Amino acid sequence: MSKKTVTKNSAESFFTRADGERKLRAERLLVGKATPLPTGPTVSLRTSSKLGGRKYVFSFGDGKADGNGSLRASLGGKGANLAEMTRIGLPVPPGFTISTEVCTYYYKHGYVYPRALESQLRAALSKTEKSVGKRLGDAESPLLLSVRSGARDSMPGMMDTILNLGINDETVEVIAAKTGSPRFAWDAYRRFLQMYGDVVMGVQRHMGEHHDPFEEVINALKQEVGIEKDDEFSVRDLKKLVASFKALIEERSGKSFPQEPLEQLWGAISAVFRSWQNDRATVYRRKYGIPHEWGTAVNVQAMVFGNMGETSATGVVFTRNPATGEEAFYGEYLINAQGEDVVAGVRTPQPVSQLQKEMPTTYRQLLAVRHILEKHFRDMQDLEFTIEENRLYILQTRSGKRTGTAAVRIAAEMVKERLITKEEALLRIPADSLSHVLAPIFDPASKEKAQLIATGLPAGPGAASGHIFFQAEDAVTFSQKGEKALLVRVETSPEDLRGMIAAEGILTARGGVSSHAALVARQMGKVCVCGACMLRIDYRTKTIATGKITLREGDFISIDGTTGEVFAGEVRTSPSEVVQVLVNRTLEPSRSKIYKNFALLMGWANKYSKLRIRANADTPEQVANAIAFGAQGVGLCRTEHMFFEGNRIDAMREMVLAASPEERRTALEKLLPYQREDFVGIFRALRGLPATIRLLDPPLHEFLPHDSLQQKSLADSLNIPVETLIKRVQELHEFNPMLGLRGCRLGMVYPEISEMQACAVFEAAALVQKEGIKVHLEIMVPLVGFSKEFKIQKDLVQQVAKDVARRLQTKFNYLIGTMIEVPRAALIASAIAGEADFFSFGTNDLTQTSLGMSRDDAGSFLPAYMEREILPGNPFASIDQEGVGRLMEIAIEGARRTHPGIKLGVCGEHGGDPNSVRYCYHLGLTYVSCSPFRVPIARIAAAQAALGAR
Ligand code: PEP
Ligand code: MG
Repeated sequence: MSKKTVTKNSAESFFTRADGERKLRAERLLVGKATPLPTGPTVSLRTSSKLGGRKYVFSFGDGKADGNGSLRASLGGKGANLAEMTRIGLPVPPGFTISTEVCTYYYKHGYVYPRALESQLRAALSKTEKSVGKRLGDAESPLLLSVRSGARDSMPGMMDTILNLGINDETVEVIAAKTGSPRFAWDAYRRFLQMYGDVVMGVQRHMGEHHDPFEEVINALKQEVGIEKDDEFSVRDLKKLVASFKALIEERSGKSFPQEPLEQLWGAISAVFRSWQNDRATVYRRKYGIPHEWGTAVNVQAMVFGNMGETSATGVVFTRNPATGEEAFYGEYLINAQGEDVVAGVRTPQPVSQLQKEMPTTYRQLLAVRHILEKHFRDMQDLEFTIEENRLYILQTRSGKRTGTAAVRIAAEMVKERLITKEEALLRIPADSLSHVLAPIFDPASKEKAQLIATGLPAGPGAASGHIFFQAEDAVTFSQKGEKALLVRVETSPEDLRGMIAAEGILTARGGVSSHAALVARQMGKVCVCGACMLRIDYRTKTIATGKITLREGDFISIDGTTGEVFAGEVRTSPSEVVQVLVNRTLEPSRSKIYKNFALLMGWANKYSKLRIRANADTPEQVANAIAFGAQGVGLCRTEHMFFEGNRIDAMREMVLAASPEERRTALEKLLPYQREDFVGIFRALRGLPATIRLLDPPLHEFLPHDSLQQKSLADSLNIPVETLIKRVQELHEFNPMLGLRGCRLGMVYPEISEMQACAVFEAAALVQKEGIKVHLEIMVPLVGFSKEFKIQKDLVQQVAKDVARRLQTKFNYLIGTMIEVPRAALIASAIAGEADFFSFGTNDLTQTSLGMSRDDAGSFLPAYMEREILPGNPFASIDQEGVGRLMEIAIEGARRTHPGIKLGVCGEHGGDPNSVRYCYHLGLTYVSCSPFRVPIARIAAAQAALGAR
């Protein structure tokens, strides 16, 4: 029987004393006499007797486990999977999991543990000790432990870990003697001191986050003894490091490093629980929507060592390739190393295939584990393993993070392999990740070398590289020469449209995810980064400055619209295979594996989804793209976008500047053929699918030039004095254009505009119908707030329809509906629905008007609102269900009361956001409409909603 070195002073004795004394003692031992920890709560072993009967500690080892995979909420992902792996007979080092309830209890009760924890922990520790035949702090056979976090959803690297726990001045000698390797023992001790000093005793926190005092000691010693790498330290050097580290801990924290292993253990457990609230973890949870109330579990496990010589190793592997999804073992390992060495990149790890040559037997075992894990967990796994003197251990497994491309391939192939069902495949794919499959990509090697100069909002996914141009016209001229232009603007306006079309991508310093640049870019499938506010864009000097670097017109710049990154210089790109097949038609479908898997999933999505998916598209080309991606019609055709192409803008400007209805009519007559021609193209491309055409919406000043040079040239071309033009521009100026003369108010003030648009639509429909193509028309009136407004516009449209039908001797199949995009419309929906055939929620404006937050300027305060959790996320990206959603519910309920069968849809940017799509399904809408390139995302999200996902 080995002698236990844990003395009466150990932390366990605190639980038998009176509360006050216990607290005092704990603080003295763990926090130091006078100074509390600089950040975070005081480490305390105080316990409470409340909830005494509950199970808090779950053991695993020797093929048995208290927990199992279904207890994820209590055991965290890591703990649940350790239990599960133990149960299925995989070689998992024994240990125990302290449940997430302890974490929530600890925070709720002011850093106090439930009373039952202490005895449960002692029992579990003793089980682990028996299982490995070693004891914590034992003078003959000391057990070393690892202490790791483990939340319900994995939060890689966000919380703290402590390895080699249990080493002290005494056990280090025992380990040295037992292993016959003093080097190993002293190296383990110095690693432990480094982690413990940092994580538990807060040494680094005293120094500021970019400063690692332990590394400084290491580097100083390396210099002194003239070596370059850590593994060149002699035993003498390592002993010296241990002494220096202990002194450093004492000096920086005012406390000495605890020699008691059990006290070390309690310190480590508290530190891991505390790390749930550290900055990194909090930010990560906010980003990925992980509730703060979940808490983390703590996993305590017997250490195994990959650094016991040439027959030991450690590695991280994925059961399939996480970048491509290929069914191939993927990962790396290091011989004679501990886990952190693989991550730290001190030595270059080997690809796992190499292990086959170096340790063939263990490699075969690892391959068997790979298959067992995939079969058992029915998903691609990311696992950590250690080989200790030829013996394989699995330290953890979890579902591996993967790119969108890999997600599609893995899901499709696992269905083929009968590992998962089609429903599971659909539910597993993060709908948003499909944007990766469609987006052009940066060549990884080229991106690696590029210089990152700013980060903005990832508004249009993909990668683009081009020469900087600040004016849309310049981008057009340049790209006409076959060159790549990238349009850089402080913000974009409809005037920039041609430049946006011509450019490879769009970069703005201002604007949010539903800003003009963002929505137009997504609609066109353009790469876009917006709101990169650290860029100082100067149109006068034609420069972009960041403080560190200044780029000029014509210089190369590259943007990643999937991540929001902006790089100086050229980074190579290529279009996605799916786009090559469906849009460019430059690749045979049968030659693209990515496309085949994508098409398979899309087919399954159609089978399950009930919500219909339409697209926001304004040109025949966009419509064709949308249909190729599976859109079931056009949910929003923004007719104003048609007025910017070619020389239509001149006629449009003439119309805007007209001083009388007669002048306006003359200008409108010039516009009519253009509109008709566009609608003909759109109806042909739709081949009978429905099209929602919206009457003119934006404030008129958007069509006019604002700088004097352009004003002069426009006045010349219109043959009017420039003063007249300037006066008209001033007349059109509004302080709040978004709440001004726009939407149906244009049609109220200038009914001839609505008449011309309706006439163009119906004449086009008549033409296409004559070709034998069905036209399902839906005419939509924007920004309605009063039922009378709608009625007036409806009567006008109906009159035009009648006239055209009579004139061209045809009939029309059409509906007239309205957008619901101001709160008043939602509140009086029952009255409007009495007149309307359909409603389409314009959630961009509905968000703007109900929150009273400008959709174009919210970037200046939204981050602060999200940080302080006033808003869960960006309401212009994902529907604010509590506020805007409530208005939608009121509108739906009101509409159905007067018009039970009314068709209901969404055409704001939210139509392409998976959470909003699922929400719309649960609201009972008929369809959502989104940018063509987001149609596949909406299709998957719609299927997920039908399969029960929220
Ligand atoms: C909306 O407001 O949601 C909408 C679709 O209209 P627009 O974005 O054109 O204002
Ligand atoms: Mg709107």
